[in-house]
Amino acid sequence: MEIVLVGRSNVGKSSIIRQLTGKKVVVGKRPGVTRRITRYQVGKMDIVDMPGFGFMSRVPRFLQEKIKTEIVRYLENNRKEIVLAMEVVDARSFSEIAERWQKRGQIPVDVEMFSFLNELNLSPIVVINKIDLIPNTYRDVVLDDICDKLGLPPPWRQWVDVLAPVSAKTGEGIPELKKIIKRRIHALGLGRYLGWLK
Ligand code: GDP
Repeated sequence: MEIVLVGRSNVGKSSIIRQLTGKKVVVGKRPGVTRRITRYQVGKMDIVDMPGFGFMSRVPRFLQEKIKTEIVRYLENNRKEIVLAMEVVDARSFSEIAERWQKRGQIPVDVEMFSFLNELNLSPIVVINKIDLIPNTYRDVVLDDICDKLGLPPPWRQWVDVLAPVSAKTGEGIPELKKIIKRRIHALGLGRYLGWLK
């Protein structure tokens, strides 16, 4: 039984795993260094951290594509084991990157991954990390925009079970994220596997 995390490199997946599990996960690896699928055991549950996808400096394009293919294949092959998926995005750069892709007539890779997870019926939680970098007065605007780009009609507040703005740095939003995870796992009748999530 496993919970998977996907996201671009450097969005803070390791930091979130550390916040959720209290495990000493290595954070702040040099961006551009490809990583393997990493598995953390928490009680009877595994947390699986996928390699970061999308553009990375020093990583050639074919390798970026290869990583994405590897992630997609893993999700397909292990679908039955996966009880929850989280896609982590960077609150500050998401919209800017998405717009750049859309201008070129391409689907942004984060949006593509969100659709793919939904196709697999994984109903991903989108963890919007680094919210501490967005001033309070802009947060609703930024979150509505992310919501819209993901294909979910704004306002973002109607998607409280899907969108979780957090800061893995300050801990803001982490209790709410934990609540969403608990609700989802309980809904599957798997509450007894949640002992690790305090
Ligand atoms: P990963 O590559 O997705 O696993 O990302 P990491 O967890 O290694 O984090 C990448 C960088 O972002 C590190 O320098 C972290 O300190 C920083 N970081 C992670 N979460 C946050 C956050 O919520 N706010 C801010 N400001 N920085 C963060």
